[in-house]
Amino acid sequence: MSEHARRVVLTDPGRREITVGQLEALGLRPGRPLLVHTSLRRLGMGRDGAPALFDALAAWSARDGGGVIVPSFSWETEDPAGWIDPPLPRHELPARQAMVGPFDPASTPVHTELGFFPEYFRRQPGVTRGTHPSLAFAGIGDGAAAAVLAQPMHLPFGPESPLGWLYEQSGQVLMVATDLTTMTLLHLAETIAPRSYVRATSRRVRVVGGWAWYHGGPSCGKAFGRAAAIWGPAVAGRGRIGQAEVTAVNARELVDLALARLATGDPAWLLCDQGTCPCCDRAHSWLRAETDHIWYGDPADIPSAPRQG
Ligand SMILES: [Zn+2]
Repeated sequence: MSEHARRVVLTDPGRREITVGQLEALGLRPGRPLLVHTSLRRLGMGRDGAPALFDALAAWSARDGGGVIVPSFSWETEDPAGWIDPPLPRHELPARQAMVGPFDPASTPVHTELGFFPEYFRRQPGVTRGTHPSLAFAGIGDGAAAAVLAQPMHLPFGPESPLGWLYEQSGQVLMVATDLTTMTLLHLAETIAPRSYVRATSRRVRVVGGWAWYHGGPSCGKAFGRAAAIWGPAVAGRGRIGQAEVTAVNARELVDLALARLATGDPAWLLCDQGTCPCCDRAHSWLRAETDHIWYGDPADIPSAPRQG
C-alpha cells in the first residue's frame, strides 16, 4: 500500500477502503496500465470514495508498475467561435473569447462534466498532468507519467497519445459505475480508422500568447453505447466495488473490435444518427464528401493551408 494510503488509514481508522485484492478480482492484470473512468456518486462511499479509489489505484500502480491514467480534459480552453450546439451569437464572441485563458496543468480545473474524481486525482501527490491545451490526461506511475507528457498537440487521441500507449501496452480500462458513452478509448479507434472524420477535424484553442489550431479533435461520443454490441470478447471481468457495478475491459481487444466495424463499410458507426447532433452531422457530411475539412472556429481565422492528419 502506498505511503499516502497508510497515512489516510491511520488518521481515519473508520474510513472505508478499496483494496488491491478487490481490483485483482475484477480481472485486472498485474503490471498492465489502467485507464480509469468513474462515477463517484454511484460508488456509494460518500466522502471516502475519492481517497479510497485513489489509494487503491496508487497502490496497484506502485506494486507492479503498471501505471494509471485518468482523463483530465478542460475543453473550456477551446475557442467559443467553434461552438455549434448552440452557436454563440456573433456579437457575444469578442467578450467570450476574452474570458478564455490558456491551459495551465497546475491550476486549470478538469471540466465538471467528467465528474469529481478526475479533478481529485490530478491534485494528488505523485500525479503528473499532461500539457495538451484541452485534452490532457493525468497519470501516476513512471510509464503513465511519461505517456501523459508525450501526448502530441495534434491527434491527441491518436497512436502517440496516452490511449495509444494503453493499446501498445495491452492495458485495461476500469469502468467504475460508468457506461460505454464515456469510453474515451473508442476515440482512438475513430482516429486510426481508415476513413477517419477525426483526422479531418481542426479545433482552435487558447495557448500562451494567443490561439492555435490543433487537428484530430474527437467527435461527441454520445453514440458510443453502440459498442455494447461488439465489446463482449474484450470484457476481462465484472464485479462490484461499494455500490458500483465495475467492468474491466482489455484495451487492445476493444479497439481492434471497434476498428473492424469502422473499417468494413460502417465508418459512421460511432456517430450520432444524422439530424440529431450538430457535431456528428459535420462528420457525416465529411464522410459523404460534401466537405473537405471540419473546422471549429471563426472562418476568418482558418489558415490558408490546412494541416492534414
Ligand atoms: Zn454526436
